[in-house]
Amino acid sequence: MINGRLYRGQWGIAGEPGHYRVVPEGRPCGCGNRGCWEQYASGSALVAEARELARRSPGAAVRLLQLGGGSAEGISGPGVTQAAREGDVAALRCFEIVGRWLGQGLAALAAILDPACFVIGGGVSDAGDLLIGPARAAFADGLTGGAYRTRAEIRLAELGADAGVIGAADLARRPES
Ligand SMILES: [Zn+2]
Repeated sequence: MINGRLYRGQWGIAGEPGHYRVVPEGRPCGCGNRGCWEQYASGSALVAEARELARRSPGAAVRLLQLGGGSAEGISGPGVTQAAREGDVAALRCFEIVGRWLGQGLAALAAILDPACFVIGGGVSDAGDLLIGPARAAFADGLTGGAYRTRAEIRLAELGADAGVIGAADLARRPES
């Protein structure tokens, strides 16, 4: 939102920072490119980290594997969140990694847009402070001139996982906005 209005870009496809490339030749993305930010800072990124960890070091991921029904492929986002809430070190580590990617990317966005507030939605936002905590720390670390500027707020979307679909419906209702 810029000056209270949705910024749509010249061709209507602005606001896709998730497809900003953060890792050259990184994880494949549904958009056809590789290394997009959303492959590292999202609910599916959280699951990817947890599954990778469970495959690499099953001994360190006992609780994650248990919640996944015994296999790395069975590990889900809510499972990682549950394990982290129980204090599971491996699950907390996954949130640390994904939160760090999120905060670093927000710092890069702040260098371009200098917004007052970032609102985080999507399924992974259900995890709340488990994600936002590490994101805020990484944002503060990565912010250009961080010691000399007001820090943008990082908040959770009130509509949580439904924010995207409700926003799309609202946009269809008000095409001129
Ligand atoms: Zn992409």
